Amino acid sequence: MSEVNDLRSALELLKSMPGQLVETDEEVDPAAELAGVYRYVGAGGTVMRPTRVDGPAMLFHNIKGFQNTKVAIGVVGSRKRVAALFHCKSEELGKLLCRCAQQPIDPVVIHGEAPCQEIIHLASEPDFDLHKLIPAPTNTPVDAGPYITLGMCYATHPDTGCSDVTIHRMCIQGKDELSIFLQLGSRHIGAMAERATELGQPLPISVSIGVDPAIEVTSCFEPPTTPLGFNELSIAGALRGKPVELHKCVSIHENCIANAEYVIEGEIQPGVQVVEDQNSHTGYAMPEFPGYNGKASHECWLIKVKAVTHRRHPIMQTCIGPSAEHVSMAGLPTEASILQMVEKALPGKILNVHAHPSGGGKYLAILQCRKTVPTDEGKQRQAALLAFSAFPELKHVILVDEDVDIFDTDDVLWAMNTRFQGDRDIVTIPGVRCHPLDPSSSPEYDPSILSRGISCKTIFDCTVPFSMKEKFKRAEFMEVDPAHWLAEN
Ligand code: MN
Repeated sequence: MSEVNDLRSALELLKSMPGQLVETDEEVDPAAELAGVYRYVGAGGTVMRPTRVDGPAMLFHNIKGFQNTKVAIGVVGSRKRVAALFHCKSEELGKLLCRCAQQPIDPVVIHGEAPCQEIIHLASEPDFDLHKLIPAPTNTPVDAGPYITLGMCYATHPDTGCSDVTIHRMCIQGKDELSIFLQLGSRHIGAMAERATELGQPLPISVSIGVDPAIEVTSCFEPPTTPLGFNELSIAGALRGKPVELHKCVSIHENCIANAEYVIEGEIQPGVQVVEDQNSHTGYAMPEFPGYNGKASHECWLIKVKAVTHRRHPIMQTCIGPSAEHVSMAGLPTEASILQMVEKALPGKILNVHAHPSGGGKYLAILQCRKTVPTDEGKQRQAALLAFSAFPELKHVILVDEDVDIFDTDDVLWAMNTRFQGDRDIVTIPGVRCHPLDPSSSPEYDPSILSRGISCKTIFDCTVPFSMKEKFKRAEFMEVDPAHWLAEN
């Protein structure tokens, strides 16, 4: 099996899988056109229909306005591809990441030459312009500007010296300026920027683009599984069985991912706020994972860029905000976080978890429960409460029995239709903070909702009561090997 350790080796692996990578030499405009194409080819997720679920990744070789530069999209846009890239069965991905989070391997800093620094552009050079250096696409015609959607932001806490990697949306605002959206009260780089501001200092930050998909997925772990100070690169290290290699940046005191395609080096400015759509005035940022256009923020932070480094003939990597790619990146760590929590509290009672694409990997989890003794009755609902604690942004939990395929939506809805009564099997927990991008969680939607981002967490218990299990046996078929009858095909 070929080893995957960067974007290029990941693309090579996808090329070897029939139907998983489409390449084109046709010119494409990164401004809205590229995303418009991929919406039909493979976006999936919560993207407006028509789109294609489980379509291929794409590699565009001819980018309007750029020479010797490619753009990749959809690399982790299906569970099947992530499974291949992680050498794992698709339904075991959550369990794999759960094990990796428990056996982290810290990154190392390497010396000598780094692939990501083959070409160096310093912001002090007169012709330095992010617009010309980075083929950052827009998702839609009303986006605030060109976005870096898959930038691995890496920074270090001014007090503790602990580093963190997290993905944030970043918009090119000027020749050497990026806006970065950091949610208030975040436990990652936002907390570091807030502390640096208290100290009156800029926060050095590197943004590595086009890396090993193991880093892209594991960087999306959230507290409490990865509290402030837990460097998620160590989970990627565990996944690959060897440390992620970092390299010293050329213009700031921070490290970057040594084999990235591009690295943007800069400093988050203390106390400076940017209006995200200051150039476009559209009111929108870009489409977010719930499937709606994100509002332009008036409270973005400003990154003053010091340098851009890249490989020769670099490959820009991007994703569509609401696509299946987001589901992989957000959902697989969600599955791992829930599994870790329920396995500690209720060992053996939850067989598996699926962070369903319809919730962008964050809002809906389906738990496969096993009741073996009468006292297991009710533990499934205990597991749902644990899931809400393991992943605070979770809104809905569907509980099903072990004979239901949690990765098959038809089967899950079958359980809801035959093992569920709305008046007794719905448990609601109103007034809990979930996620601000759910448009129904707002005071306008209902006055009982005190502020944006507060939701009613809901459990849909579609499991059979333990005492009635015998009455809910599915019709069984004769066991045969169908290959005999299919041989002619
Ligand atoms: Mn992080």
